[in-house]
Amino acid sequence: MPLDLLSPITDQQSFETRSIHGGVQPDPTTGAILTPIYQCSTFVQEAVGRDKGYTYSRTANPTVSALERQLGAIEGCLPAACFATGMAAISSLFFALLQAGDHVVVSDVVYGGTVRLLRQILSRFGVSASFVDPSQPGALETALQRPTRLVLIETPGNPTLKLVDIASVCETAHAHGVPVAVDNTFLTAALQDCFALGADLVVYSTTKFIEGHNSTVGGAVLTRDPALLEKIRFVQNSLGCGQSPFQAWLTLRGLKTLRLRLQQHSANALQVARWLEAHPQVAHVAHPFLESFPQYALAKRQQKDGGGLLAFELHGGGHAGIALMNRVQLCSLAENLGAVETLITHPASMTHAAVPEEDRAAAGISDGLVRLSVGLESPQDIIDDLAQALAG
Ligand SMILES: *Cc1c(COP(=O)(O)O)cnc(C)c1O
Repeated sequence: MPLDLLSPITDQQSFETRSIHGGVQPDPTTGAILTPIYQCSTFVQEAVGRDKGYTYSRTANPTVSALERQLGAIEGCLPAACFATGMAAISSLFFALLQAGDHVVVSDVVYGGTVRLLRQILSRFGVSASFVDPSQPGALETALQRPTRLVLIETPGNPTLKLVDIASVCETAHAHGVPVAVDNTFLTAALQDCFALGADLVVYSTTKFIEGHNSTVGGAVLTRDPALLEKIRFVQNSLGCGQSPFQAWLTLRGLKTLRLRLQQHSANALQVARWLEAHPQVAHVAHPFLESFPQYALAKRQQKDGGGLLAFELHGGGHAGIALMNRVQLCSLAENLGAVETLITHPASMTHAAVPEEDRAAAGISDGLVRLSVGLESPQDIIDDLAQALAG
């Protein structure tokens, strides 16, 4: 294990500078300004018991280490542990912290894969989960009456963008001695500083805004606690679900523009959201930085900007929503989010099809709900496309 993967990053530079230079340096042997892709499984040792920090790429790989250091520098914590996918990161977090008989509390609007993992896999190993709405007074407190090992929240939630008050959840959980992990995939450290709000762990699907170009799937777990990081690295190596060097290299490239992209995604999404809100066929639009958003005050307090996601519903319901999604031309009908291309999704039949209908209804995912991941095209071109699709 390279020593620098367990030592804290002391870089005090600004976010933008850290996103480009944090934790990385020109290649010491050639001067290459970018970390090379070390596409290699095996590292030759100098003598028995003496190596250069790398032995075998399942345990650590120099390109992946560069990404891990840079993510840590950006987030202001220890180097990340990077994974093959976001679900590999979340699974490893659970494997690192939980054992048979343990209880986890999860916010009610979380990624479907997280729910499936808890309900259909970890339940077989004796781990139980409670899904609670932390915005309901006393709900979290009640769930924590059962001895609990971990609280996992996601904010904004998918696809309704419902927010969770991170500082308030951390305060309640910490009073019970329980650590809090935040899935920060939708906003990233560019727009939401989870550690400053009290989180103990941050998890990512780097597939989305972190890499940002629809090129990779990947995940990461970050913390400021060396003991937690060691547990996570032990699982990463034992399960063998770490990231590959080429994925890491593409993600390093994406990170250089993280702040710029997130700012523009947010500005474009807000412009499209305002246009939709004024359209006579639109019944309802959700975007955290719209004044009409029910948790607007919390969004302004907790987030640096609104993010690139919005959701809306047409007066014509499911039928009209599906017709719209079949008529768009610039927007791509797809399941992913968080990249430069604008993606449009029908949660009820795509991302959330596996969620039982009554659970979907309870979470506000109607058959007519449309999710838009607003990309970096001209917002006017996105609006023109939606306008022609609505006109039929
Ligand atoms: C996509 C996503 C995940 C899962 O990530 P994968 O990279 O697809 O495995 C987890 N959490 C959130 C919020 C996501 O959007």
